[in-house]
Amino acid sequence: MTVMNAVLSAPPRRPIRELPDELVSQIAAGEVVERPASVVRELVDNALDAGATQVTVRLAGGGVRLTVVEDDGAGIPADELVLALRRHATSKIGSLVDLESVATMGFRGEALAAIASVAEVAITSRPAGVPHAMRIDARHGELQPAARAQGTTVEVQELFFSTPARRKFLKSDATELAHALDAVRRHALARPDVAFAVWHEGRLVAQWRGVVSPLLDDAATQRLGDVLGADFMAASRTLLSRQGPLQLGGRVGRPEAARSRADLQYLFVNGRFVRDRLIQHAVRSAYDDQLHGQRQPAYALFLQIAPELVDVNVHPTKIEVRFRDGRAVHQAVHKAVQEALALSRSAEVPAEPLASPPSPVAWQPSLGLVDVPPVRAHEPAPAWTRPAPAGGDAGLAAWAALRSVDPMPPAAATAPSEPTTWPLGRALGQIGGAWVLAENAQGLVIVDMHAAHERIVYERLKAAQGAATRLSTQPLLIPMTFSATPAEVATAESEREALLDVGLDVSSLGPATLAVRSRPAALPDVDVAELARSVLADLQQVGSSRVVQRSRDELLATMACHGAVRANRRLTLEEMNALLRDMEATDRADQCNHGRPTWRQVTLKELDALFLRGR
Ligand code: ADP
Ligand code: MG
Repeated sequence: MTVMNAVLSAPPRRPIRELPDELVSQIAAGEVVERPASVVRELVDNALDAGATQVTVRLAGGGVRLTVVEDDGAGIPADELVLALRRHATSKIGSLVDLESVATMGFRGEALAAIASVAEVAITSRPAGVPHAMRIDARHGELQPAARAQGTTVEVQELFFSTPARRKFLKSDATELAHALDAVRRHALARPDVAFAVWHEGRLVAQWRGVVSPLLDDAATQRLGDVLGADFMAASRTLLSRQGPLQLGGRVGRPEAARSRADLQYLFVNGRFVRDRLIQHAVRSAYDDQLHGQRQPAYALFLQIAPELVDVNVHPTKIEVRFRDGRAVHQAVHKAVQEALALSRSAEVPAEPLASPPSPVAWQPSLGLVDVPPVRAHEPAPAWTRPAPAGGDAGLAAWAALRSVDPMPPAAATAPSEPTTWPLGRALGQIGGAWVLAENAQGLVIVDMHAAHERIVYERLKAAQGAATRLSTQPLLIPMTFSATPAEVATAESEREALLDVGLDVSSLGPATLAVRSRPAALPDVDVAELARSVLADLQQVGSSRVVQRSRDELLATMACHGAVRANRRLTLEEMNALLRDMEATDRADQCNHGRPTWRQVTLKELDALFLRGR
């Protein structure tokens, strides 16, 4: 009974009161300050806003015990030091008009106040033209003269000292340090012109010198290499596209450089690091038919968009943004990444200039694909993907001037007169019934012939279906009949239109028999009954009513697998060479439809090493 009473009786009403300032700050801090990395992010933001060219971060205990950020920026006048620590005090915005057009990194005017409410903060600052620095201790608000060159030092000690519950959420020093380092890395990528150094417990853990180059693209590329490393650079390719008010630059990792975690994904919108699900999705989906399920691509992308088309103030730390036209942004990003990935890796092998135009070797009709226009990877790119002069400022515009990867051999290329002229080389022979060996300038090329051919067929089917809604079909002289399950017969009847769309005319001859009367023209060499069975199985799973792009691609992939040359099929040298040339001309030819590589290079150097031979 007493328990019931306790539950049912409402607590006594308290009068409405304004929250004390300190509590308001602590609540605000909850949104802004999650861990030392958040402190680093806000302080470095401020340093960059103040025009710093050099930013030094000193940490102890993963940043929990101590985070210091020093800059050589404009400094804070002594009479404003107290204000800097107040909530909603900022020098960066004075009116709503400013709010709409604000271009600085941070402007909510609450970072320092928030940090000071959950840690011990002191600021030492010296603007230009004053005889000495002043230091303020946030706890007492006391001002004292201090020694310092022009710029500002903000010291933050004992994070969450007064809120032990929150301190418990912090991880090990090493983990917090890693997060803090990542926060600096993000700033460093966006601002190649600024020098950064990070110290932990007196040890230099990262240093990136400022890159000032008359060519913005060189600076941005150099900084990317400095921060993300040579491995990332080697395993990624340049992307640059421009579409209306939107410009995208940076580098996207090759599919084979994908990772198990999404830990190498950097996205900047108008110079600011953000996490945006829309763009993440657009990028990931561009890899769809090249990456296994959960694999995560690596990328550093810089999106520049007219400020009125994006709202950066939807999140306390501005880490999320909202686009006015999310659909258009999604499409543009997806397309740009897809195009960057489409360029085959073979196109990047430094090939010697091609000699005389050869007569293209036709891919043997028996292997398929004669009546479908080939997909060329090297058609001139649309105007907006070509380098364009930069607009705007900061590191992002840097990408505007980036040279795109030079498209390689002209489309109408020719028969090799010697092994070095073709990126994938001259065919030597076939082994194990599965591999084609070829020789190019770098050494030995090994091709998984089924996987490679499958990709070629798939890309052609996609291109053919893109051009028309229905794949062209070839009637069979004698219909192919096969015994079918009731489910297969039912699917053949209900999905007749979908089957015709992919070039298959399938009808029932009875409760347990199906007849195929035509096959896709693009797949001359295919076992029609097997193909029909696989396509029916796919259709049973997805249903055609909603055969959206993705499942349609899956359908084509199934067909490509059937249309591709089988293991143990003997190829003539001519056919092997034709396969290599087709690979060079096909988008995404480096991976099969399941994300496995289609070819490997074994360099002469590697061969030397194999035989313990010094050169
Ligand atoms: P906001 O950056 O949103 O204005 P903050 O609380 O981060 O709010 O900073 C308050 C103010 O303190 C800034 O507007 C700026 O005038 C001044 N300030 C903070 N850090 C620095 C710095 N490193 N150099 C110069 N001024 C600074
Ligand atoms: Mg700030």
